[in-house]
Amino acid sequence: MYSVTHKRKIGIQVGCAAVERKEIGVQCSHSIGSYGRRNNETGFLTYDELLRNHLWTKDYTIEWLKKEKLLATNRICDICCSEMKLRECSDRSDGYVWECRRQIGRKRHRTEKSIREGSWFEQSNLSIEEVIKFTYWWSQGLEQWQIKQQLGLGSHTAVDWDMFCRELCEVTLFENREKLGGPGKVVQIDESKIGKRKYHRGHVVEGQWVFGGIEEESRKCFIVCVEDRTEGTLLKHVQEWIEPGTTIVSDCWKAYVNLDKYGYIHKTVNHSVEFVSPEGYDTNKQEGHWRQMKVNLPTHGRKKEHYSSYLAEFIWRYVNRGKDLFIVFLKDVARVYKLE
Ligand SMILES: [Zn+2]
Repeated sequence: MYSVTHKRKIGIQVGCAAVERKEIGVQCSHSIGSYGRRNNETGFLTYDELLRNHLWTKDYTIEWLKKEKLLATNRICDICCSEMKLRECSDRSDGYVWECRRQIGRKRHRTEKSIREGSWFEQSNLSIEEVIKFTYWWSQGLEQWQIKQQLGLGSHTAVDWDMFCRELCEVTLFENREKLGGPGKVVQIDESKIGKRKYHRGHVVEGQWVFGGIEEESRKCFIVCVEDRTEGTLLKHVQEWIEPGTTIVSDCWKAYVNLDKYGYIHKTVNHSVEFVSPEGYDTNKQEGHWRQMKVNLPTHGRKKEHYSSYLAEFIWRYVNRGKDLFIVFLKDVARVYKLE
């Protein structure tokens, strides 16, 4: 289980990144009419509604975040083990602090805990409202520089929070991971290289091999960064991600020749001569997924060690397509940062 201690420094293999602006554009275009009607029709929380309904005052914000399990609803005092009280205070930007001033015997103690302790908001210079706004724009697919501009943030802050959001996707996908396929199901697999782009005058940036699979007839998928494309490496991931008995469709890459021996039904498409095999199998869905992924990876400034989180973001947006991503994101935050 991932708990608070893992936050913001997790390294898992599932991962990636993308901004599906087009999709969001489509969703937004459905909405018409007044605020109220719009909200009722689509169920999507608009930025206006966020400001008016949830960020109107600090009290509103904190009550809402408690309800959504993004802030703790109670805290236990480390000294006397009884429940602490939430006290209004003016010397913290949060406006509230947990406090205990009980007397044990003759001695009165006084302890305080930040309302952010153990939460998504912990250890940040941003106000809680700013974090929420960042999270909102991030989930809507705005790019880092745009959010930075919208909220007037420093560069480092924007970079950090962009990464925290991607890492949250990474943890969420890891916790919810499920094998693909099974008897009667078809999974397409393929390898691809990302990051191999020519910048100035033919300077080639070192690429990263990724290996992925996607289930036909569903949104179940995986993408992992791999060091190479050898049989040993790819087979390990096939077994980790795909149920035995699955029909696996791949190209004719030699690493796949023994899949039949490991309990899979293996079909190939020979891409040098065909897009669809004579039996009707193809890997078009996985290839489309690669195209989407590449379009959505940031073109500069990405570091190799961050690929997995970019991949995670890409998959997170893919599997949640059509949903209100802000609401999904908050639910994922609440699940990862368990406060009780
Ligand atoms: Zn106490």
